[in-house]
Amino acid sequence: MVDVNDSPETPGSDDSREPAESGFASLGLDPRLLSALSSLGYEEPTPIQTQAIPPLLGRRDLLAQAATGTGKTAAFALPMLDRLVREGGERKSVFGLVLVPTRELAMQVAEAVHRYGRGTGVRVLAVYGGSSMGLQLRALERGVDVVVATPGRALDHVRRGTMGLADVKLVVLDEADEMLDMGFSEDLEAILDATPAGRPMALFSATFPARIAGLANRRLTSPVELRLGQAKEAGPATEGTAKVKQTAYVVHRAHKLAALSRILDLEDPASAIVFCRTRTEVDEISEKLNGRGRRAEALHGGFSQEQRDRVMKRFRSGAADLLVATDVAARGLDVEQISHVFNYDVPNEAEGYVHRIGRTGRAGRAGTAITLFEPREQWLLSNIERLTKKKIERATVPTVADLRARRLEMTRASLRETILGGGLDTFRVVVDSLAEEFDLLDVAAAGVKLAHEAEGSPGEEVEIPPVFVPQDRPRFVPRADSAPQVRPLRRTPRLPGAVSLFIGAGRDAGIRPADLFGAITNEAGLSPRDIGAIEIADRFALVEVPGEAAENVIEKLRNTKLRGRKVVVRRERPAPPRR
Ligand code: AMP
Repeated sequence: MVDVNDSPETPGSDDSREPAESGFASLGLDPRLLSALSSLGYEEPTPIQTQAIPPLLGRRDLLAQAATGTGKTAAFALPMLDRLVREGGERKSVFGLVLVPTRELAMQVAEAVHRYGRGTGVRVLAVYGGSSMGLQLRALERGVDVVVATPGRALDHVRRGTMGLADVKLVVLDEADEMLDMGFSEDLEAILDATPAGRPMALFSATFPARIAGLANRRLTSPVELRLGQAKEAGPATEGTAKVKQTAYVVHRAHKLAALSRILDLEDPASAIVFCRTRTEVDEISEKLNGRGRRAEALHGGFSQEQRDRVMKRFRSGAADLLVATDVAARGLDVEQISHVFNYDVPNEAEGYVHRIGRTGRAGRAGTAITLFEPREQWLLSNIERLTKKKIERATVPTVADLRARRLEMTRASLRETILGGGLDTFRVVVDSLAEEFDLLDVAAAGVKLAHEAEGSPGEEVEIPPVFVPQDRPRFVPRADSAPQVRPLRRTPRLPGAVSLFIGAGRDAGIRPADLFGAITNEAGLSPRDIGAIEIADRFALVEVPGEAAENVIEKLRNTKLRGRKVVVRRERPAPPRR
């Protein structure tokens, strides 16, 4: 197995380096794809992309350990698109097939394939249960190049003869462990049987339980094996992080900018770098932060040396207090006294995080590192913690009330300083003259109000919705095929904080774990990792979900159909005490 993190690091020691050439060009990708990547603002491939793209272009099979956040989607989408654009021509049958565990991922991957293939005319279709069969049939009839599908619905189409796989040139199993966990094993095998023998196949999985190894043994031929993200041992590089206070705020993508802005207000950094993944993000965020009254400068690999020097001069002199940069652009920058490092996204490898935050906390000074993460990126943080052997404190974004309280606290502190500073005689006259007419406390409060307002209005503050963070816990492996018919069902949840839900349909109604997984992830938006044990009896089923998500899951399941019918869903009643 190749450890993907072994990719050589680009050296850099001072500001005078020319911006790096796109590393994508050296992977041998078609120029049309390079221009799509450049318009997305990608500067260089992530480790999984560097390692996976060449073998897939060379039509090898691939077995890769990689999860969300590592850039794995482009790692398989780019070689697929490359073959497609080079072969050209209109086709009626499916060229590339990507199988994913959930509807959400199907949509996400289909969008990503579309983005990576912008300008190439690629036709991509997401195929999943719950979306209109009619629309899917019409699109398949017209011709689709890449299908991104959940196994259940894909197999429906194969069996109806509405999706021919005879000409498939590349098959990708994405999040294969999740697919098996969700009980899709048989569906997967049936779909793979319908694809031509000898076509290349890539299997991506975050974990490698025995069942994945079995699948890989049966279905892959001498695959190139990649292992990603197993953080290396802590070394001298990680020691630099010891003095850095590290906090990670969970936030949904849509609220990231508002969250960053709010945390900046609270932290009030003297001098900070905000790291982003792409040039596009750097431009967008620096512009928006400036629009919100910050003094931010953008820096990315698309800048000329002259622009770069100008930016660095403004940042070093204090004319700008925020530098919004990509990793490539910030590589080799030597700036003393950076009080804060912000990670707008979690870096896709733990070592990258250590490099970023090593820019603060220099020369024995304390520094602060703040990371914004989406719930699904929780595992990337755990990986970083394993490498640095240091806990990253998890926090939720301050509410509007927190912000107001903080501003009042700042006003109080300034008033206190003013009182201690003395020299108030000229102002006492005003207070004296009002004291006859008003209560003294009211006079003082009015003064506070004026002082507070003079600090400047924060502008309209939107409430950023709180986010449920899944716990990092052992994954659940349902026993879809092996559950004995008469096994007594457990009455107490196995996971801390989880509750059991009763579902009024079971094996007799054809319910399988995959149906419950699918319905809960698709309708209630939970990640498969949030779902605990599922047990299926003849007439009913029990499923564990996090306590805080239970009401939402119940409501959503009541409004949907399982195997074509509405079912009773409620909290499982505790078992009667034993006598
Ligand atoms: P994935 O692991 O495929 O879900 O990708 C995680 C995130 O990284 C997505 O937001 C991608 O748009 C982004 N991404 C993927 N590859 C790159 C790259 N080479 N440079 C910058 N961002 C990337």
